[in-house]
Amino acid sequence: MKVLVINCGSSSLKYQVLDMTNEVLECKGLVERIGMDGSVITHEKIGMDKFKLETPMENHKDAIGHVLDAIQDPEHGVVKEMSEIGAVGHRVVHAGEKYAHSVLINDDVIAALEECVDLAPLHNPPNLLGIAACQELMPGTPMVGVFDTAFHQTMPPESYIYAIPYEYYEKHGIRRYGFHGTSHKYVAERASDMLNVNLDDLKIITCHLGNGASVSAIKRGKCIDTSMGFTPLEGLVMGTRSGDIDPAIVTYIREKEHLDQGVANEILNKKSGVLGISGVSSDFRDIEAAAAEGNERALLALKVFAHKVRFYIGAYIAEMNGVDAIVFTAGVGENDISMRDIICNDLGNLGIKLDLVKNKVRGKEMIISRDDSRVKILLIPTNEELMIARDTYNIVTGKAVN
Ligand code: AMP
Repeated sequence: MKVLVINCGSSSLKYQVLDMTNEVLECKGLVERIGMDGSVITHEKIGMDKFKLETPMENHKDAIGHVLDAIQDPEHGVVKEMSEIGAVGHRVVHAGEKYAHSVLINDDVIAALEECVDLAPLHNPPNLLGIAACQELMPGTPMVGVFDTAFHQTMPPESYIYAIPYEYYEKHGIRRYGFHGTSHKYVAERASDMLNVNLDDLKIITCHLGNGASVSAIKRGKCIDTSMGFTPLEGLVMGTRSGDIDPAIVTYIREKEHLDQGVANEILNKKSGVLGISGVSSDFRDIEAAAAEGNERALLALKVFAHKVRFYIGAYIAEMNGVDAIVFTAGVGENDISMRDIICNDLGNLGIKLDLVKNKVRGKEMIISRDDSRVKILLIPTNEELMIARDTYNIVTGKAVN
């Protein structure tokens, strides 16, 4: 069966088609500038050159129409007719407390996701638009929702309840939800395969370090804690997000700088993180280049980032009473050799020993700890689309075990 994976943003959309009989990626693409001038689709059939088509796309339905044309294109397509697509898997950011796993989409699911719009106002609306467009253009094709929050629903209340009046949890759903769940789940499962140890027998810390970044503690295959919270702003220092700060800072800066709420939000989400500290960039490659040239704030940004990752690793070792494997994934985790080195430096007493030679690798599945390291350190490129396609395939073929 072929599965179409759709990840809809507000003005962009990513897609892939995978053949799930052998989990092979057949084509992928990106639509940009939906609803703006210069809408464009870039499509790539695996093994062929990309093609780009600039054509007006007023809305998500137009965009998905072009995606469906591209995947049926006689030269660049991967199916002769739409009926060859057995199911569509949709990435949806927020499912609140409603879903702890992926589900077949029906009217009740749509209603539940609409209720979560307040919790993810930037993400859930375009996700829902993508679902509606596919339902219209592919009537009868089963659709599955795969949620960023779902994997973290196994967290115990002590991990997710904030120490604020309990009524805010009851009235407004203010609690920690966690994000990047599909990625954390995927790399934890891959780690179990690579180590040839059942997930039930493993304590794993997964470090998803990209532009957005989060760490999860996974015990016996279940998430017991994660660093992102009510929103993706909590936790680690990120490219442009502050991560954990004293909440009193927000009111203090607003008063000192005369900022309205929107501006304060923008500062914490878009102008903070390693960009805010370094003043150079949110991209670790630029920051490392500046640090190498003696820029002290760039060096400080890298140190603060690593400090926070180590802080969470230590916390999660305590929460799980040990750790068997630490996984690095996403842009920084997969590619930043020196950052992995700084994070793992001098943790020998905890049984964590990075092999500095094996660590000289980018974007490739590999065990990068020393042979005498009690805790295995793994580099695993994330693959959220494959995870979405797998869940979709398992649900529509009745193989899902939740
Ligand atoms: P992601 O959000 O997972 O796509 O990660 C994107 C981030 O990964 C970029 O902003 C960079 O900071 C980082 N990154 C990508 N490649 C490298 C590299 N070779 N060295 C260091 N950082 C990298």
